[in-house]
Amino acid sequence: MNTFMTLQSYGSKSAKANLAVQKRIQSIENSISTTKEDSFIYKLNHNCNSEIQVDNDALTLIQFGKDISEKTDGALNIALYPVIKAWGFTTGEYRIPETAELSSLISCTNYKQIQINNDIVSLAPNMEIDLGALGKGSAGDEALKILKEYGIKSALLDLGGNIQALGTKTDGNKWTIGIKSPWGDGNAVAGVKIDNQAVVTSGGYERFFTGEDGKNYIHIFDGKTGMPVENDIASVTIIAHSGLYADALSTSLFVMGLEKAVDFWKKNQDFEMIIITKDKKLYFTASLKEDLIVKYNFLETNMID
Ligand code: ADP
Ligand code: MG
Repeated sequence: MNTFMTLQSYGSKSAKANLAVQKRIQSIENSISTTKEDSFIYKLNHNCNSEIQVDNDALTLIQFGKDISEKTDGALNIALYPVIKAWGFTTGEYRIPETAELSSLISCTNYKQIQINNDIVSLAPNMEIDLGALGKGSAGDEALKILKEYGIKSALLDLGGNIQALGTKTDGNKWTIGIKSPWGDGNAVAGVKIDNQAVVTSGGYERFFTGEDGKNYIHIFDGKTGMPVENDIASVTIIAHSGLYADALSTSLFVMGLEKAVDFWKKNQDFEMIIITKDKKLYFTASLKEDLIVKYNFLETNMID
């Protein structure tokens, strides 16, 4: 998944469990990678019009991705890969595509055209999908399942910045997870105490390139325009029981911007969130009140309820 993983687990079988987790995550990667030629996603993306039989990992993620794309009205769009490729994020050969190129690519990104029949998936011509916004969250959930099977009651997983906790620390206290500064200075601007939850952040401060025009172009895209997201949010952190849901929503709410993200929370209320805006304000959902530690001197700290 193009990133690093750290897993601390506590219990007599922790070494064996960690190894099993590593294998499981590798197998998910093999199934959903956009670049490995044997993956189901690769086969789907390179056999336009044909029906591909996929394994359970790919199927679950494609179905979930399609559902969340619908639920967020395309803020998350697992069919955006042609656009992401055009900007060079898949190869590192970055470029700024012309508006005409983007409009023609956007016409191939309609997630409603992903067809799923039992375990057979097919895409419309020229469509390509990418589960990059969901894969780490799902891998984290699978990792925790395995740890539980090995009788582990306390563990902390960091999968490329997606944090997932099993139980509490061994002393019974909650884990404290730092929220990185979205201004790239490496400090933690806040912390949140959790047990049995995932903490997933999306922002534009780690993966971007600087164009010849001196502007920064980030790796999360607005499917309506084909442009990197540029709105009032610096970072959004989602806290939820499912890593997959947290991962999907962190990307989605980042794309939505503050106002729509707050509306989305009000309609759903099945997750908690911390939003840091570019104008240095902090927003958090009310249930986090006891568990949030604010370290940075934000211009405003606002509770959402
Ligand atoms: P990260 O991978 O940095 O933790 P995210 O979970 O937010 O961040 O996922 C970003 C990845 O998702 C991008 O690298 C890209 O592959 C893909 N992506 C970008 N924009 C979107 C979008 N609007 N919907 C779905 N996937 C996207
Ligand atoms: Mg995500």
